[in-house]
Amino acid sequence: MTESSTEIIKILSHDVKFTKSSPGIWAEGGMGRAAIKYGEILIDPEQAPDSLKSTIIHEVTHYISDLLSLDLSEQQVDGISIGMFTFLNDNPKLVNREFYNKKN
Ligand SMILES: [Zn+2]
Repeated sequence: MTESSTEIIKILSHDVKFTKSSPGIWAEGGMGRAAIKYGEILIDPEQAPDSLKSTIIHEVTHYISDLLSLDLSEQQVDGISIGMFTFLNDNPKLVNREFYNKKN
């Protein structure tokens, strides 16, 4: 069992409690949860690294959808988050250069 950890992250300038914690406490199925009502995102830490990154982007996309009342469907959240995940993953040089000022 992985230890749980919590940190405060920012989404659209809102403080969000970001917690990696085994799912028992939140639900059956799924690798994460986003709840603007509680100002938190929960991520199951026990998944492969790419799955973890993909889940984080998925839950952040849900959070943005809820904060902006976009009312995105699960399919829309899935499509956008898979697209963003593969974009970030497939273009590390561009991402590092343009977002983190890292020279390649
Ligand atoms: Zn979802």
